[in-house]
Amino acid sequence: MIENFDAKLNEYAHLLVEIGANVQAGQTVRLRPEVSCAPLARMCVEACYDRGAREVVLEWDDDFVFRQQFLRAADDVFVDWPAYKKAQMDWYLEQGAVDLSILGSDPELLKGVDPARMQAFRRAAGNATRAYADALDANKFQWCVAAHPVPAWAKKVFPDLSEQDAMDALWDAIFAVCRITGDGKAVERWREHIDTTARRCEALNAYAFKSLHYTNSLGTDLTVQLPENHVWAGGSEKTPAGVEFVPNMPTEEIFTAPRWDGVDGRVYAALPLAMDGNLVRDFYLDFQAGRIVDVDAAEGEDILRRSIDLDEGSHYLGEAALVPYDSPIRNKGILFYETLFDENASCHLAFGSSYPTCVKGGADMTEEEQKAAGLNQSITHVDFMVGTADLSIVGTTHDGKEVPVFVNGNFAF
Ligand code: ZN
Ligand code: ZN
Repeated sequence: MIENFDAKLNEYAHLLVEIGANVQAGQTVRLRPEVSCAPLARMCVEACYDRGAREVVLEWDDDFVFRQQFLRAADDVFVDWPAYKKAQMDWYLEQGAVDLSILGSDPELLKGVDPARMQAFRRAAGNATRAYADALDANKFQWCVAAHPVPAWAKKVFPDLSEQDAMDALWDAIFAVCRITGDGKAVERWREHIDTTARRCEALNAYAFKSLHYTNSLGTDLTVQLPENHVWAGGSEKTPAGVEFVPNMPTEEIFTAPRWDGVDGRVYAALPLAMDGNLVRDFYLDFQAGRIVDVDAAEGEDILRRSIDLDEGSHYLGEAALVPYDSPIRNKGILFYETLFDENASCHLAFGSSYPTCVKGGADMTEEEQKAAGLNQSITHVDFMVGTADLSIVGTTHDGKEVPVFVNGNFAF
């Protein structure tokens, strides 16, 4: 039993609608919850209409049905993306709809599914929904991703607890890292957190580093060049119309885009990477002129290689993110098996697409211009954790000055 559960759930719904998606009067909302999240989803629907939403369109996900489809549907289902689905995405785009997703998945949902089928599906879906995904990455409309426990996920995180205790423990953890206490003030606490993050971004943007050098005792020795005019962002984002929103709930990271062709050396993963129900463990990536030229993993190497081989851009980095080792999420000491949380436990990098807003004016550039500016393009984006307690990051400015950015896993300033 969680004390004050309904009050906390309601505080969570308001946090997602007011701070996460920041739904505006007259806006259409695309709400995507898993079926087991129905009580939270309904509270979100109420909160959206309280703010004057035009319409809340529900797209229920059902994990059971999703798995059955992957195991039993005909092969061509995974190759051809239906036109009506694409038309729906285009309609949301025309509406300028807000996109609010509430994940709640068994981390092993797709275990045993043919990886070739998954790759075909990702490719078909990725290509068909490219315009929508690009607009989302460029923050053309508000979007927010949050999570909700489900029993299989809770048991994966807390294998020694009963199902009910595991669910309670996972709820407690999610409430804690989302700064929800039941006092109804999470929205205020998030405004403060967003301000602190913004101050750090300003400091990093003022340095305008040419490159970052990562080292630690695992053996990481990686140089990451940053595009000229790169922008560090974190906490909240703004749409072109100036509506502030928080894309990931929770979030602790400050991130930018590496130069896609400017990464050299080796980086070791600090945490296992959960991918499609599998874990990739103890891996490193080698880079030359930005390209991943070698990969080694103690476990799950095939899964990792397939996701790097998805398209040309997935061979290059698209994100470099800074998260203090002393973050509320890592301090929980839990591996969530869910990137939304785990990426906020550690400094991370991502291979695949970059966020165009990570370069000044990037959102309004053509693909060619983005590439020339240093931004990477791909239909995928996979975060992996590299932050350890002894991680050092040294920034080099354009006039050759070296500035410690991270010392012993935490911000140096
Ligand atoms: Zn990130
Ligand atoms: Zn990322």
